[in-house]
Amino acid sequence: MQVHDSRQRYCLGIEATADDFSVGILGFDGKVLANIIDVFLSETGGIHPREAARHHAEVAGTVVSRAFQQAGITPKDVTIVAFSQGPGLGPCLRTGATVARALAAYLSVPLVGVNHSVAHIEIGKLKTGARDPVALYVSGGNTIVAAFECGRYRVFGETLDIALGNCLDVFAREAGLRHRRGMPFGAALEQLAAKGEKLIALPYTVKGMDLSLSGLLTAAVTLLRKGECKLEDLCYSLQENAFSMVTEVTERALAHTEKKEVLLTGGVAANKRLQTMLKAIAEEHDARFSVVPREFATDNGAMIAWTGVLAYRHGVVTPVEESFVKLRWRLDRVDVPWLK
Ligand code: AMP
Ligand code: MG
Repeated sequence: MQVHDSRQRYCLGIEATADDFSVGILGFDGKVLANIIDVFLSETGGIHPREAARHHAEVAGTVVSRAFQQAGITPKDVTIVAFSQGPGLGPCLRTGATVARALAAYLSVPLVGVNHSVAHIEIGKLKTGARDPVALYVSGGNTIVAAFECGRYRVFGETLDIALGNCLDVFAREAGLRHRRGMPFGAALEQLAAKGEKLIALPYTVKGMDLSLSGLLTAAVTLLRKGECKLEDLCYSLQENAFSMVTEVTERALAHTEKKEVLLTGGVAANKRLQTMLKAIAEEHDARFSVVPREFATDNGAMIAWTGVLAYRHGVVTPVEESFVKLRWRLDRVDVPWLK
């Protein structure tokens, strides 16, 4: 329980782009008072958008109450409500937006629509002290190398097909691993990969500054089904290839921009092997490496609340009639007036 400060202003942030429904409460000074995450777990481990949205609607009331309880403030203390407006899965986004609109209207406070990808970078900066990094944002739905240039985060490289987290998750599911609370597929795969010894040849596809992971996934699944390789070796080889690809693109963005920081963010940032690879290239370029803390790596409401505060302080509010969700809202389409 936190001690309520009556001079402080607070933002409540709602995240619901995919499988997580999360509510964060944060002071305008950046102090996180609450960050409750309720993840949708299906039988198969996949995300069916409408089933995930139903989960979000069912847990929303409880998650909001738990967030207030953890924060030690009451609803009337909230100054603004922020929500993830995109990109993401339509039914999930709409559920989050509906909860946000209802809360903002009930509390008579402004609504701020936040870009989910920008939020992953901003929470990474807040939590690590990075100021102007080349960011590698890797999650279940996104794989982007970005850095701030001329008023916006610019995309220097990205996946041409599936996201890194998705690649790991699909392989893990094929291999019969279980997705459990506190142990996502990627983490289960990481444990097996640590026991791998033999590097198996798999496709490595970097095209210019972009990369492709679907060929790698198909080849790994094909070998898995043949049953001739040890699962540990396959997990190890899949990780080595996929992580080398994103590291190569990040290194080139670093060389091009001559920035002095590398930030790793998004759910896959929890992976120790990926952290090691990125740290190595950062050091080679005399850049500081930082990684978002685990609690803020996966989708979370605190990152939405923080980005809402940054935007609101620079005059951004989202009228209800403009609060429709944007399923493909690209990172490089968002003005970030709080950065110079
Ligand atoms: P997000 O989409 O940001 O909520 O992050 C979820 C993604 O992060 C999923 O694809 C997870 O499998 C992945 N993930 C979580 N922990 C790890 C880990 N230790 N290693 C690799 N991937 C992970
Ligand atoms: Mg998620």
